[in-house]
Amino acid sequence: MRVIYPGSFDPVTNGHLDIINRSSSMFDEVVVAVLDNRSKTPLFSIEERVELIENATSHLNNVKIDRFEGLLVDYIETMGIYTVLRGLRAVSDYESEIRNALANKNLNNKVETIFMVSKAEYTFLSSSVVKEIASFGGNVKNIVPPNVNLALSKKYKQMEE
Ligand code: ADP
Repeated sequence: MRVIYPGSFDPVTNGHLDIINRSSSMFDEVVVAVLDNRSKTPLFSIEERVELIENATSHLNNVKIDRFEGLLVDYIETMGIYTVLRGLRAVSDYESEIRNALANKNLNNKVETIFMVSKAEYTFLSSSVVKEIASFGGNVKNIVPPNVNLALSKKYKQMEE
């Protein structure tokens, strides 16, 4: 079975990587699909986000990194993979995740969304929290992979210059 794990991944965190690791041992293939959302300005470009995930998951040979624009259901159709994987952290995730899952189902009845519960230690962790801490020079080395830690310090140093 193949699954699509979509998201912004701006940048990928240990919470995302935990979901990728665990799902890669459950499914034949996990396609991490990075959303290229033209209406939002991410900290990392789409190319940077893809590369950061590629480097952090290079040891997992059934994990592929891809990018998409527009509606997830359209991407799903072009891939021919109808199972969407999402991570669930807290009750706060539940409402928006159910809304998205139902909207996708409504657009294409073949789509099934499955949820994997976050590890307790990553329940607080989001890309926004990481950016907030890193932007003030705080230490994020325990919550992101080493390549992301490096990329964050470079990025904020560049922005200061
Ligand atoms: P989106 O903007 O689509 O929510 P994110 O990059 O924030 O994209 O998240 C992608 C997926 O990873 C979502 O399903 C989200 O719930 C999940 N996720 C994010 N952070 C964590 C975490 N700390 N633990 C588990 N799942 C997470």
